[in-house]
Amino acid sequence: MPELPEVETVRRGLEPAMVGARFTKVVQRRPDLRFPFPERFSERLEGQEVRSLSRRAKYLLADLSSGEVLVMHLGMSGRFLVTMDGATRMPGEFHHEHGGAGAHDHVVFGLSNGATVTYNDARRFGFMDLVPRAGIESSKHFAGMGIEPLGNELSGEAIARLFMAKRTPLKAALLDQRLIAGLGNIYVCEALFRTGLHPEAPAGSLVTKTGEPTEKAHRLADIIREVLAEAVEAGGSTLRDHAQVDGSLGYFQHSFRVYDREGEPCVTPGCAGTVARLVQSGRSTFYCPECQPHSPSKAR
Ligand SMILES: [Zn+2]
Repeated sequence: MPELPEVETVRRGLEPAMVGARFTKVVQRRPDLRFPFPERFSERLEGQEVRSLSRRAKYLLADLSSGEVLVMHLGMSGRFLVTMDGATRMPGEFHHEHGGAGAHDHVVFGLSNGATVTYNDARRFGFMDLVPRAGIESSKHFAGMGIEPLGNELSGEAIARLFMAKRTPLKAALLDQRLIAGLGNIYVCEALFRTGLHPEAPAGSLVTKTGEPTEKAHRLADIIREVLAEAVEAGGSTLRDHAQVDGSLGYFQHSFRVYDREGEPCVTPGCAGTVARLVQSGRSTFYCPECQPHSPSKAR
């Protein structure tokens, strides 16, 4: 499943193909993905210019000259394939010969700059929607969504405000999309490990009695941004290196320090611990019991 850094990588990969270009032809091959496509989908896109391509949590938002926003979500297996005219290709961009229509190519965007952007989704948990820009924050996809983790909103103060008096385990609180939006299992495990916080520690242990962020709260905020930024950077380098042979954007190998390493020695220098796994809310949590002691006093 693409996590936030992968979605950001996809955004960066699509930007040169889409921004500033008009949709000249939109081919929609099915009535639905996870949800039905909006009515008159192709018609509402064709002729419109993409003014900008942004991201909110794991959603991609293409702002159109019509005042609507094309909202795209990759679901479990969604990916984009980009074909750009060799003659108009610029350094740093990627190029891929995408021959023929794949069985899971559900939408094909033809753009005025000659680029073709194909949406492929084998499991069809992704979706697309068209939403008016005005009031988009209160639209069904974004209403009640938590703060953006890869940005300035996330700080020790924000964590204190969101986690105050919460007995919820830290891991669950960090995965709660109503608090922080778009943080997934892998990056939460990595961030807790690097911060030295036990995944089952109460979320409220990062907040003082007077509602101030603890030292660890500040550190956790910094580390979450750092972990995500590193992953985005790793994704960016795969784009540059053309390492993905099928030309797809957004799925890349990234080495994790604790995620999926159960039974392996902890990578922290001088630590004799072994990475352990526990299951929280049905999902695996990986952590080092030595680096992440389960003691609220140590979490300060
Ligand atoms: Zn350790």
